[in-house]
Amino acid sequence: MNKKTYLTILSLWIAVNIFAQSPAASNASFTPKKAVAPDPKMDAFISSLMKKMTLEEKIGQLNLPSSGDFTTGTASSTGIAQKIQAGSVGGLFNIKSVQKIREVQKLAVEKSRLKIPMIFGMDVIHGYETVFPIPLGLSCSWDMRAIERSARIAAAEASADGICWTFSPMVDISRDPRWGRVSEGSGEDPFLGSQIARAMVKGYQGENYSQSNRIMACVKHYALYGAVEAGREYNTVDMSRLRMFNEYMAPYKAAADAGAGSFMASFNEVDGIPATGNKWLLTDVLQKQWGFNGFVVTDYTGMSEMIAHGMGNLQQVSALALKAGVDMDMVSEGFLTTLKKSLAEGKVTQQDIDNACRKILEAKYMLGLFADPYRFCNVKRAQTEIYTEANRKAAREIAAKSFVLLKNQNNILPLKKSGTIALIGPLADAKENMSGTWSVAADATKYKSLITALKEAAGSKAKIVYAKGSNLDADSAFETRATVFGKSLHRDPRPADQILQEALKAAEKADVIVAAVGESAEMSGESSSRTNIQIPQIQQDLLKALLKTGKPVVLVLFTGRPLDLSWESKNVPAILNVWFGGSEAGDAISDVLFGNVNPSGKLTATFPQNVGQVPLFYNHKNTGRPLPEGEWFQKFRSNYLDVSNDPLYPFGFGLSYTSFTYGKPVLDKSQIRKTDQLHVNVKVTNTGNYDGEEVVQLYIQDLVGSITRPVKELKAFQKIFLKKGESRNVQFTITNNDLKFYNSELKFDSEPGDFKVYTGANSRDVQSANFTLLP
Ligand code: BGC
Repeated sequence: MNKKTYLTILSLWIAVNIFAQSPAASNASFTPKKAVAPDPKMDAFISSLMKKMTLEEKIGQLNLPSSGDFTTGTASSTGIAQKIQAGSVGGLFNIKSVQKIREVQKLAVEKSRLKIPMIFGMDVIHGYETVFPIPLGLSCSWDMRAIERSARIAAAEASADGICWTFSPMVDISRDPRWGRVSEGSGEDPFLGSQIARAMVKGYQGENYSQSNRIMACVKHYALYGAVEAGREYNTVDMSRLRMFNEYMAPYKAAADAGAGSFMASFNEVDGIPATGNKWLLTDVLQKQWGFNGFVVTDYTGMSEMIAHGMGNLQQVSALALKAGVDMDMVSEGFLTTLKKSLAEGKVTQQDIDNACRKILEAKYMLGLFADPYRFCNVKRAQTEIYTEANRKAAREIAAKSFVLLKNQNNILPLKKSGTIALIGPLADAKENMSGTWSVAADATKYKSLITALKEAAGSKAKIVYAKGSNLDADSAFETRATVFGKSLHRDPRPADQILQEALKAAEKADVIVAAVGESAEMSGESSSRTNIQIPQIQQDLLKALLKTGKPVVLVLFTGRPLDLSWESKNVPAILNVWFGGSEAGDAISDVLFGNVNPSGKLTATFPQNVGQVPLFYNHKNTGRPLPEGEWFQKFRSNYLDVSNDPLYPFGFGLSYTSFTYGKPVLDKSQIRKTDQLHVNVKVTNTGNYDGEEVVQLYIQDLVGSITRPVKELKAFQKIFLKKGESRNVQFTITNNDLKFYNSELKFDSEPGDFKVYTGANSRDVQSANFTLLP
């Protein structure tokens, strides 16, 4: 090969491998996709099928009951079975096992009059049996390829077990750590949230559903569910349209643009009308403005809950939902039991019912179910493609990427594999809790606890001693509420002091103490709001006692939400936040603790100093009386008497075993027109002793606008790998699109004027440069 050919091949390789990996690069070339692509063959098939359908059968397609508790061999004798045979069920959800699903599908395609196959859904939220980190953790990887890969593996496993539809991704922006479902989303930022929404949809669905190991995504919870008042579950949401569109809507739109097949309406109200009955939301914005043409399902009993919201009786709310743009009714059976009457009374039209029915049939057609109703019921795949070595290896790697190192005084971490390590805490021997909330298909009997994994990793080189140290919480009733769905922490009935003394004795023999403390898996997730976002007092007391021994203490923090760690951040020398890392979390935590993997996660949600600061987020407005930088309190300024405005750990924050230094951002122009590209270069150097990954972040501030603009907004990031001592010039390209926002006419546009660009390692520690957008 001559030199020229070699260089051409090399540059091609670089283009494919480097640029393809850069999130910013992949973002730039994105073109929106339709959920349902035009297909005359499909249209003709569905039209001819619908001609044969009775009104009851059409309404039946809109009905999504919960599966009940089928056991294999009994499906045909349940109440649901009779409905399936009568053509009154369009799909079922949360049944696990290919055999059961095959049996139920058989009822539909052999015993119902028109033999229409059903769709089978499940909450495959962060993996199937191979469980990945909870979504909030996953988002902290800032690694779009890893996130897409996790969704692809989840789809492959779920589809091998009969599932063709997942109720994921959950893309609700939330700024409120009191809300338990903050664990299910990607944090507080709409730009990052949009990238993740896109990666997840792509991971689940692939380019189309041509492969039988891809499944349909369902984007939820549309819309604004993450903004429930006071962080209290299912509570009211109320905000201006400006705030909606500039701060909350982008990830839903990104998921629609990525071609997501379905959307789920949220429980909350929007503008005074529950989302499930909100025509503006479901039809005007989602369908007309964004061009979404897939189907909309309610959330669990979302339709009948409109009765309690005060929107009328079941017939009224069902008609309201259909008219608003809902196509499928999860569990309420409002469509099934009232639509015929509403049609007769002129409250809904035949067209309304036909439209919804067509959308459900289109989804089934695209999933290939008319061609082969058992497409996802391959028993051999179920035996060979679930929880495989390769999938577990991916989950282990991805889990390690989600961990965020919050503090590492005197480089306590990584641990040496020598001497004695005391592993202490209620989360150390808690394998049922490793998978985190919403892990419906998880099989905890297959997973390792942290203690097992750490012992395996240490081998004969270091001795690991273990003691529980404390229960999750002093209050056993609280612990019962917080350890549901089989995720027990095996409460120790002995007096608290006895449990503590045992731990101190174990610690006596140790060179270093690893404290595995925090929340249980079900202290976050649905219906797990908290008003106190600290580590339970009894566990903090355990930490205090461990610190008193004078030995170095490493806090391995399990949590599903940002916590108030003010005390811990002051007093504990090292804090590694591991969220809930999934089925392989034990091995992944050991990998990071012993330094086989250098942590690189960065927070995607602000950690406040205390719950009183909530909601606290980096992309806030300046106000007319901002506090000067570096100040704490000034009278008649926007601040508190008792605590500074600063977060404890800002958005984007996360340490590494190595250190990175940043140069100033260098712009290639100081003025641009709307058609120009602005290149921003920043030099990043690995100045520490380990190779490592770093998330280089770029924020923009629009200094003057026709409406007030945030102090900073994330607009680009790149996750790079640098060997120790290595430097890299990281280049970002800013276009007019990055400067746009929704103005008071809700028009998405940029405005000429002065801007600041900030680059750095997190949203706080940045350096800036200025440019002007010319008219
Ligand atoms: C949750 C949804 C979930 C659904 C089905 C609801 O309670 O809000 O996120 O997909 O149940 O299990």
